[in-house]
Amino acid sequence: MMNPKFNLDADPQKGDKQKVLSDKSLDELRSSLAGTVVGPADAEYDAVRRCFNALVDRRPAAIARCVGAGDVALAFDFARAHELEVAVRGGGHNPAGHCVCDGGLVIDLSLMRTVEVNGEARIARADGGATWLDFDSATQAFGLVTPGGVVGSTGVVGLSLGGGIGHLTAQHGLTCDHIIGAEVVTSDGAVIHASADENADLLWGLRGGGGNFGVVTRLELRLHPLERVVGGRLVYRGAGVREAFLRFRDVLTAAPRDLSCQVSLAIDESLVPILEIVPCYTGSEVDPEELRTLRSAPGLIEDDVRRHTFLDQQRVIDTAYGENRHYWKGHFVRELPDELLDELLRRMVALGRPPGGIMIESLHGAPKDADVPPGAVGFRHAAFNVSMLAVWQDPALDAEQIDWAREATAAVEPWSFSGGGYINYMQADEPIERVRAAFGAEAFDRLQMLKRQYDPHNILRRNQNIPPL
Ligand SMILES: Cc1cc2nc3c(=O)[nH]c(=O)nc-3n(C[C@H](O)[C@H](O)[C@H](O)COP(=O)(O)OP(=O)(O)OC[C@H]3O[C@@H](n4cnc5c(N)ncnc54)[C@H](O)[C@@H]3O)c2cc1C
Repeated sequence: MMNPKFNLDADPQKGDKQKVLSDKSLDELRSSLAGTVVGPADAEYDAVRRCFNALVDRRPAAIARCVGAGDVALAFDFARAHELEVAVRGGGHNPAGHCVCDGGLVIDLSLMRTVEVNGEARIARADGGATWLDFDSATQAFGLVTPGGVVGSTGVVGLSLGGGIGHLTAQHGLTCDHIIGAEVVTSDGAVIHASADENADLLWGLRGGGGNFGVVTRLELRLHPLERVVGGRLVYRGAGVREAFLRFRDVLTAAPRDLSCQVSLAIDESLVPILEIVPCYTGSEVDPEELRTLRSAPGLIEDDVRRHTFLDQQRVIDTAYGENRHYWKGHFVRELPDELLDELLRRMVALGRPPGGIMIESLHGAPKDADVPPGAVGFRHAAFNVSMLAVWQDPALDAEQIDWAREATAAVEPWSFSGGGYINYMQADEPIERVRAAFGAEAFDRLQMLKRQYDPHNILRRNQNIPPL
């Protein structure tokens, strides 16, 4: 159960839309879809409505498990006819739990997982519910990659529409920069396409604007050749953590384009700080200087960095699905001065119990290449993404954990790049000003105009919402 003190479900229209569907209505939906429909009385209901964040426990009136664009269009029709709120589910990973709603209809794409690869053209076409494990397995069969997410069960489309930061960001840029086409079902049930030649404005919006404009049933992404990388984890503990943290900052600020890197700061049961650095190096050096510098920092207790396949690198970071309660909040920052690193270390120890942490992703290198921004995404010129990840299991800790994430984020604000957070990590309680700031005022205005064109009634509002102009 969610702690009633926190309204983490920021849908203003919630309440009057909570419905229970009759068996007849559910049967009507069942008979029209090629896919399946799960209702509250079905045995698999609890498994299918579950999402990554155990803090989110919602009971939809029906879950339409679609198998194609036609099913998605029918699901929209059904929702309209029965005045149901709509939620869209890909990989179910969004920490805000946007993929499920109380009393509404979930358009569930998790049965649509095919990924087709054209090795010669270096293009992959991913169905709307494909995960990164599906995607990487298919593209690596051709020795190709796109820069994606670091956890295999995350949805390809959900992540790409919000930006996309991962193991190859410095080398190749953001995931959304690689979107070259999409098949989209709009909320009025129309199936349309977006590419450089067709609805190019929509393509711009899909590159960072989230799931606001329609359900993407197929996404086309550019690929690059890559099979092996130097990667893994470097773990530091105790007094050396500060020095290792500074070295991470210094190495990444020098912006080596063949090294992507993220760090997680945490504490163990004895409240001793732990730092985990996850590098991904793709250059030609056998023993790159940057990795030597990181390795020689004091406090190193684990080093499994080695040359391995890209698929092995994609398994370095993993996390339990649906078991923990999560509350994430953060800022893109302009820089990481010593003062901020010390503040983060203090905040980490102040959390007082594992397993939460502070994650820092570097945005150096390729994200900065675009002269004219090819999409709506607004954070490419920030230096780092700093995210407070409160993670816990006991509902009695809701207040403590959520307060920690909020207060630690507020402490980072003086270094904030734009005042906005990362829409892929934001909870549902973020004010619209933070969403607007994430894009910048000009891009946000343009997104609002697009929203008016493609979803004028804001049917797709369970997301980091861009209200129609
Ligand atoms: C463990 C974990 C690891 C993560 N790792 C990364 C990472 O490495 N890099 C990164 O950038 N982000 C990462 N994220 C954040 C993640 O990219 C976003 O939360 C994203 O929204 C998840 O997409 P999903 O399909 O899995 O989630 P869902 O909860 O299923 O979907 C979230 C929202 O995305 C939209 N959406 C999803 N699919 C579609 C579709 N086919 N058409 C239209 N809209 C759609 C909808 O608005 C939906 O409500 C991670 C999150 C978690 C929990």
